[in-house]
Amino acid sequence: MPQFLETQPNTETIWRAIILFGRNVATYKFALGKSLLDLASQEKTFITMEELAVPFSKHISEHLKINDKQGVSSSSKFLEQCRLYNNGQCTEDDLLSKTLALGFNNVIDAFHVVGRSEVPKRFFLDERKERNGINITDDLLQLKEKLQYLNLPHEVEARWRLVETAWTLNLNPQLLEVKYDESNRLLYTHNEDCSRINITSSRDSLNGYQKGKCFYCFREIVIDDSDPDRLTDVDHFFPHKLKPFMPDINFDGVWNLVLACQECNRGAGGKFESIPQLPLLQRLHTRNEYLINSHHPLRETLIKQTGKTDSLRAQYLQQMDSRAIDLLIHRWAPREKHDTGF
Ligand SMILES: [Zn+2]
Repeated sequence: MPQFLETQPNTETIWRAIILFGRNVATYKFALGKSLLDLASQEKTFITMEELAVPFSKHISEHLKINDKQGVSSSSKFLEQCRLYNNGQCTEDDLLSKTLALGFNNVIDAFHVVGRSEVPKRFFLDERKERNGINITDDLLQLKEKLQYLNLPHEVEARWRLVETAWTLNLNPQLLEVKYDESNRLLYTHNEDCSRINITSSRDSLNGYQKGKCFYCFREIVIDDSDPDRLTDVDHFFPHKLKPFMPDINFDGVWNLVLACQECNRGAGGKFESIPQLPLLQRLHTRNEYLINSHHPLRETLIKQTGKTDSLRAQYLQQMDSRAIDLLIHRWAPREKHDTGF
């Protein structure tokens, strides 16, 4: 995972590496992630496995209702129990005891592993042997104090939706393409019979890969509309206005979508229909490589849209830039830059 976990990553970045970059064989990591965020809000430091089983099984059961495919293996006794629960064929007690027996296999051990090694901070310590529970660490409790904490549950949910949708479609990866619906700011795809499947919010899906910052000026952003000072736009890096002149280009492709604060997108001195300066083009390449490294299904989408190798994708962006600047002439960069970037 090049660069995303830089030399001294902050706690949010480490959390995001876990959620966004794992190669998943089941969605349990997402359920555990959401449960940890739920439990951290309650200020508790020690969580028994019985307590953890409640949100964990609830999240999995809820997702099974949306999407029956929650793992790549064809059978799972735990998932079977969650289905029975959803159908009213077992009690909550039955569900919880099966969760304790089967639901946590591997996920507790694997949570902090990204690629082949553990991330540099832990969000809980495994104390199942000593006390039959997990100990929430200060790093998780500190995460709760950060502005980005508000975004994290949305990001886990969006990643979860992308992965389960990719599995359910069971398409040849080359056929799978995530698309963007601008009027609803949604990501969607098509089934083999061409029916449309809505996946998730575009803002929720993209925010983590920008580390919760405006693509252009690095101001911290939030992805729901709760904070009027931090409203976030989905921006086309290469403006829509180019469309009639370049009919061969998919401007609504994920490769061209970034999240921007309103000031950069349309405030005084905003970008509007200019072409971003070259360092910003390089930044788009970096962001797109993060999407490539996140696997199913954004990887397939980006490869399809911009090329099979890192150098072909860089070339694609450079060619886009030369064509675009010939037509729109003006370069743009944000007036101020906040903090460190991504
Ligand atoms: Zn900005």
